[in-house]
Amino acid sequence: MTKAETISFIKKIKAYYPVFKLEEEGVDEWASRLKPYSKDDILRKFEEHLKGEYALEPPKLHFLTKFLKTEEEKERFSNDYLIRCNLCGQQMYLSEYDNNHYGKCLLVKTIMLYIKNVSYEELDSYATEKLERVLEKYVPFKKEIEYKR
Ligand SMILES: [Zn+2]
Repeated sequence: MTKAETISFIKKIKAYYPVFKLEEEGVDEWASRLKPYSKDDILRKFEEHLKGEYALEPPKLHFLTKFLKTEEEKERFSNDYLIRCNLCGQQMYLSEYDNNHYGKCLLVKTIMLYIKNVSYEELDSYATEKLERVLEKYVPFKKEIEYKR
């Protein structure tokens, strides 16, 4: 995404979110962080944000580039394609899903069944090992069930 494209993208965000403000150095930061990605991918993520859980707030850079591949990575993995996780509904590349996403998403979703008032986003920010420990602690009968089988 070129700097000019980033600037017009920022205008688009402002059209949806009048409270959204970026100083000049913020614009430069966005331009350099978005540079490796394609404009279409970023716009697609923005559309996803508008329909998502956090649509009331302007999108964060972190969200806009999450699960995306840079143009360079796309060339390296040309046989990869986009899928939607059927647990959380997020869109991502199959390689990302297989290598990083599926196991963690399953953990997050399982923990959410036992702990109320915790968001997917919050749990997802912890490392997988930590989530495994949480699961052990809050689901004490898990072992018992396995034992009975
Ligand atoms: Zn998922």
